[in-house]
Amino acid sequence: MNKRSIQGVDVNGKTVLVRVDFNVPIRNGVISDDSRIRAALPTLNLLGEGGAKVVVSSHFGRPKGQVVEDMRLRIVRERLSELLGAPVLDAGGPNGAQPASVVSGLSSGEFALLENLRFEAGEEANTKDFSKHLASLADLYVNDAFGAAHRAHASTAGVAAHLPAYAGLLMERELEILGRALEGTTGATIAIVGGAKVSDKIQVLRHLSAKVDTILVGGGMVAAFYVAQGRSGGAVDVSDEDKSAAQGLLESGGANVVLPADVITAPEFNENSPATVFECGEVPLDGLILDIGPRSATEYARIISIANTIIWNGPMGVFEWPEFAKGSVAIANAVADNKKATSVIGGGSTAEVVGSLGLVDKITHVSTGGGASLEFLEGKILPGVAALDNA
Ligand code: AMP
Repeated sequence: MNKRSIQGVDVNGKTVLVRVDFNVPIRNGVISDDSRIRAALPTLNLLGEGGAKVVVSSHFGRPKGQVVEDMRLRIVRERLSELLGAPVLDAGGPNGAQPASVVSGLSSGEFALLENLRFEAGEEANTKDFSKHLASLADLYVNDAFGAAHRAHASTAGVAAHLPAYAGLLMERELEILGRALEGTTGATIAIVGGAKVSDKIQVLRHLSAKVDTILVGGGMVAAFYVAQGRSGGAVDVSDEDKSAAQGLLESGGANVVLPADVITAPEFNENSPATVFECGEVPLDGLILDIGPRSATEYARIISIANTIIWNGPMGVFEWPEFAKGSVAIANAVADNKKATSVIGGGSTAEVVGSLGLVDKITHVSTGGGASLEFLEGKILPGVAALDNA
């Protein structure tokens, strides 16, 4: 990582503004998954133990520049306090005079949490005023919100122009592991790319094609690749654009692109629609490809078992429905079983697949950022990373 890390920086007595991603799922008024809060604890503990006055900040939901009562951070603050084993003061705001008065009362090792950053319109608009207001609260800025690093907002990018700006430990880990996986150091590097549409993933496929040895293709995009090969893609309408994107990839001379030898189709896009296995080339014109088939799952698992580096983004099928989850489950198990490989999962629904199977501990790194990890794999520069001080 070519950015300055907060590790080893003397923060004693300093006020540190930390941007985290506490955009946690809440069901019936309860946090249903607190892993984003847990993921920020190493940085927050490092700062607290180092004697900093820690001002934590996050967005939550999409209040669009207005105060929305349901989107206040109180529940998050209470959970953070439990996990830290320390009080977390309500700093209010995020704009106006209240935060400054709460922050000026903080002692070394104490924590306060600003109110939802997106209550302030200047946050998403990345205004100079709001960036300067945030900077005025602290001596140093730390960005640990990898999940929001693909956004150029005041708290992720703008503020860094006004304070010494460091990467937090989670940010550092994400950038290092994702970056190293793409460098394809030694041995076979494979990417597994799935998801709904080829248009969602074409940039990822193109970037990965230049970086890895082999790409295993799954998900809804299989149809576009079959059509590009002159085969039936089933009932789904493959646009000319998607067809030529797939064609371009097959002919690019980059990574070896592997397509499923068989697929599971159904007549309707429906959980209970009957699932049938077809060989590639025999997909009926009224069948929707909803998963890779059993032969492909075995072949993909074999390729995964001999890889040294594995990057996975996007499920192999409609994993939310059990009949069409088998391909994704087989791939998840194969990735988890390859103990010698560095395995990296690019967030979002792929993280959900391994999470639901209890395999997270068997993966080297499951990214906390969905959109951010996707943009990273596309080779884009993340504004929240670019804004940090260079090492
Ligand atoms: P993504 O978040 O882009 O990786 O896409 C994940 C979504 O793609 C999931 O909701 C899956 O249900 C969906 N998906 C995967 N395979 C297919 C498929 N063959 N047809 C339609 N949707 C799919």
